[in-house]
Amino acid sequence: MDSARILISAALPYANGPIHLGHLAGAYLPSDMYARYQRLKGRDVLFVCGSDEHGVPITISADREGITPQQVVDRYHAQNHEAFRAFDMSFDTYSRTSLPLHHETARSFLVDFHERGILTEKTERHFYDEKAEMFLPDRYVEGTCPVCSSENARGDQCEQCGSYLNPSDLINPRSKISGGKPVFRETAHLYFPLGKYQKRLEEYIAERDKRDGWKENVLSYCRSWFQEGLQDRAVTRDLDWGVRIPLKGYEKKVLYVWFDAVLGYVSASKDWAQQQGKPHSWKHFWHDPSTKYVAFIGKDNVVFHCIVFPAMLMAWNDGHREQFVLPENVPANEFLNFEGQKFSKSRGWGIDVQDFLERFPADPLRYYLATALPEYRDSDFYWKDFQARNNNELLAILGNYVHRTLTFAHARCGGVVPPRSALNEHDRALLEEVRKAPVTAGRYFEEYRFRDGLLEIMNLARRANKYFNDSEPWKSIEADPERCMTTINLSLQLIRTLAILISPVCPSTSGRMMAMLNLEAPGGNAWDHAGELKLQEQHTLGTPTPIVSRIEDDVIEKEREPFAVKEAAEASPQPEDSHISIDDFKKIDLRVARVIACEKVEDAKKLLKLLVRLDGEERQVVAGIAESYDPTDLVGKSVVLVANLKPAKIRGLVSQGMILAAAADGGRLVLVMPESETDPGASVR
Ligand SMILES: [Zn+2]
Repeated sequence: MDSARILISAALPYANGPIHLGHLAGAYLPSDMYARYQRLKGRDVLFVCGSDEHGVPITISADREGITPQQVVDRYHAQNHEAFRAFDMSFDTYSRTSLPLHHETARSFLVDFHERGILTEKTERHFYDEKAEMFLPDRYVEGTCPVCSSENARGDQCEQCGSYLNPSDLINPRSKISGGKPVFRETAHLYFPLGKYQKRLEEYIAERDKRDGWKENVLSYCRSWFQEGLQDRAVTRDLDWGVRIPLKGYEKKVLYVWFDAVLGYVSASKDWAQQQGKPHSWKHFWHDPSTKYVAFIGKDNVVFHCIVFPAMLMAWNDGHREQFVLPENVPANEFLNFEGQKFSKSRGWGIDVQDFLERFPADPLRYYLATALPEYRDSDFYWKDFQARNNNELLAILGNYVHRTLTFAHARCGGVVPPRSALNEHDRALLEEVRKAPVTAGRYFEEYRFRDGLLEIMNLARRANKYFNDSEPWKSIEADPERCMTTINLSLQLIRTLAILISPVCPSTSGRMMAMLNLEAPGGNAWDHAGELKLQEQHTLGTPTPIVSRIEDDVIEKEREPFAVKEAAEASPQPEDSHISIDDFKKIDLRVARVIACEKVEDAKKLLKLLVRLDGEERQVVAGIAESYDPTDLVGKSVVLVANLKPAKIRGLVSQGMILAAAADGGRLVLVMPESETDPGASVR
């Protein structure tokens, strides 16, 4: 679908933590390259994003830190907004779902669906905290895991054993809010009948795929959802952080975050329109059927953008004259890993965008990520590759070409564009490739194949270097000055071509290239004219400056080292690998034993021989504690015995068990003893 008007959304990042490089490679860099490319095609582009600021994880962060949910989202909204700015994202607006404008927008959908009888009400039983007077979201209920007996399992999952749970599965459930025992109470919720839209959704996806070529990974996620059959989804929750619901009986509930978050694209567009002073201009994008709407996401968001959101827009469109456009395509990337492993905040594995951009400029990162986008399968960020792509490609190919051409023009052509005379076959072959490059790269960008598009652009830069080398202007300047001037004229033209084509990927590098040519930033439909010879003879050039900096080995080593150390530490045997299960532990029969008699073992200065009583049973035990205890110290004391240890012979004496002792300073041993009076034979757990 070739359209003059393009609406682009990038998944709303969740305002409960900083974004990392994996997020950039998922939804953000691709959407930004697409938006910048479409603007250069002269299309009317609206590119929106913003913070997703509702949901239970945010209230949990707030509780943990003793601050309000608003304070949590204020912090991460500001941080992520700043990180995106530093990464040169060209959003037309970066909005947020805590704005009243968004609340009104989301509510209007809910009220409309309710009034038109689309939603159904169902009554369910949920845990309720009577002290706090509130229903408890799954994560607010804790208790003993029915699988592993961990006492701190959450209502949705046990972190100890990884089992997925329902709150009602927990043994001895307790409220995370008051600590009290929650009770079951009935509560009513509104449901969106997703199942009713399944057939239309299947047709919608098939049609758009045929028109715009959906990605295979996205289609296969959708197919698996359709195969399972779409289920009704609750649109309300018992919570007090979120979009309030203006319906009777729903005063203490809010919209379920999935329902309001996808509508964030609509309210962000309204927010943009208000900032422009043209509050209705958002409608040109959302209500004009000729708009092409492309929603960029990461693979974890497919169901919401390919199924839930289109179904909501269909439901709205069924009852209104003004129709919302549905996504024409939902390009979702797979995940980016970091140095061979998944990004993990808790393990400190990975790097936040802000930290990264304090140390390196945005363009080398954008360039490297664009070459390593997880377009079809998961891919990896490696520090070494980042350095190599910067030094061996961005610097050695593009930077070098620009530098040698401009310094030559300044040294030998008076700092102006020299005249062009008759073209030879090498010139014509080059110009043919220059003419084709925007077409080929543009086609890849239209197909969301950014890696291939960038490869095409860099191949042109390689070709440009070869042309410069083969033409040997440093020789022809003496032998055939006209030829030399023609070579430099064409080489300078090519810098302009490359500056335009690379600008969606490396916008500030492109800006420096244009400045060195003493040209304005490309506007209008510059892309389509990128292959033309636009530089006039005698046009004055700007000053040559390096466009890319080398990244040195020691700089990269410093970044990489902490992860290499961590990896080595984790590869050696770890407590995690030597964990035993609760069942393993239960095999050990630990008992309290009372010492009845005790004496030294002859000729063994470390050993004591003890007679101990368990429940109605006496045993002989040999223990290596003679250097720490006198035999007389121990009679009458209670110790802890491993009672089912296989009997062993020590110095000819049978030992029926082992006494537990702690290792203290200087090799001394301290016996483990019950803290108060305990019956012999009592089991120790
Ligand atoms: Zn468990």
